[in-house]
Amino acid sequence: MADDEAPTHMNPYEMALVQLRHVARRMKLDPNVHEVLKTPMRSLEVYLPVRMDNGTIRVFTGFRVQHSMARGPAKGGVRFHQNVTEDEVKALAMWMTWKCAIVGIPYGGAKGGVIVDPRELTHTELERLARRYFSEIGPIIGPQVDIPAPDVNTNAQTMAWFMDTYSMNVGHAVPSSVTGKPIDIGGSEGREKATSRGITYCIREAAKVTGLDLDGATVAIQGFGNVGGNCAPLLYEMGCTIVAVSDVNGAIHDPDGFDVHKLTKHVRSTGTVMGFPGAKEIQNADLLELDVDVLVPAALEGVIHKDNAPNLRCKILAEGANGPTTPQADKILRDKGVYLIPDVLCNAGGVTVSYFEWVQGLNSFFWTEDEVNERLDRIMTKAFHQVHDIWEREKDKDEDGLTTRQAAYMLAVKRVADAIKKRGIFP
Ligand code: NAD
Repeated sequence: MADDEAPTHMNPYEMALVQLRHVARRMKLDPNVHEVLKTPMRSLEVYLPVRMDNGTIRVFTGFRVQHSMARGPAKGGVRFHQNVTEDEVKALAMWMTWKCAIVGIPYGGAKGGVIVDPRELTHTELERLARRYFSEIGPIIGPQVDIPAPDVNTNAQTMAWFMDTYSMNVGHAVPSSVTGKPIDIGGSEGREKATSRGITYCIREAAKVTGLDLDGATVAIQGFGNVGGNCAPLLYEMGCTIVAVSDVNGAIHDPDGFDVHKLTKHVRSTGTVMGFPGAKEIQNADLLELDVDVLVPAALEGVIHKDNAPNLRCKILAEGANGPTTPQADKILRDKGVYLIPDVLCNAGGVTVSYFEWVQGLNSFFWTEDEVNERLDRIMTKAFHQVHDIWEREKDKDEDGLTTRQAAYMLAVKRVADAIKKRGIFP
């Protein structure tokens, strides 16, 4: 498919391939390496019979895709969502390969998903589903092979079930089989907020290079789960004014800014941002087009596309979610002068602290939260400037220009391509 024929809402795997193709062309990537990187290394589809509380059996479909293990074991979250598709999981796995390479941690990329609306399942049904899924993907999982983590609608409890299932199957505790676990069973201090903390470090550095004063800077956040919900208080503590937030139920806006601690308490007690006293309800789509300094999409992919990109008014777009912006929107935003921090860099704090958790588990030696945050800051800040420097150096070399995402991909693809070339293709 030619790039200009891309539909508004692209298939995520098509989108990942278009992104890779742009960069391959730009960096004159060896066509043989490009051929290898276009497809995942493994894709497993599993069917999961689960006993419902009423005694009936439902069969769910799940996936685990490993895109690359050139730089180390595969790493990536597991998503429980009714719209999961194999192509979505393949795209997310490829993005994980780039993400791990950008922050320079010794992992390849993977992703998992189960087609389920978890709101329809009880706690016990969810536990049986999680355990059955992990058991079914067990043959291709392991602390030196592929290490899952949380993603949309999965959390520390899900990881505890995964870790216990793996451990029961092998006969001894294997904490490093998953990351994002509760602290009591080998989780890392700082993991829960790591993705959001990494996003805030990137926003801090982006503000420096664009000359934006973060004190009083206005912020809109789409999605108020693990990523968006933790970003809000961290940005608030950095002096930002959070003027709009949303979740699956809708969006709220207050031009004077929310008291984020009260908002967080409200979400904890009601389960949604909606109904927060004093806030005006707005359309979810309108949140993206507000006149703010920083926009953080932290929900699902494909929400910024060629139809709404021309209307965006933010100065910095910090991609908390994976794949929120289509390739066409990327170009529109670049031409408008929006400074975009691409997902593969912006939300890499989660996988970075997952790596810290894995390292701590393998050594049975645990760090303080300050140590975790300080190491995370160092890695994210270095990665941000490596990407920014490539962008500054390369953006005027070609009449097509360069997006910051392409700069990030150039760094990532080079690192993965070097690993493939040095290892060679087996046999
Ligand atoms: P989550 O399930 O905790 O939260 C998702 C949030 O998005 C919820 O508040 C939900 O209500 C909201 N949402 C769903 N549909 C929406 C819609 N149409 N409009 C507005 N809001 C909507 O998930 P999460 O872990 O916060 O992940 C969010 C995104 O960040 C995903 O793209 C995920 O892949 C990415 N991500 C997560 C992590 C992590 O550590 N959790 C790491 C890297 C990237």
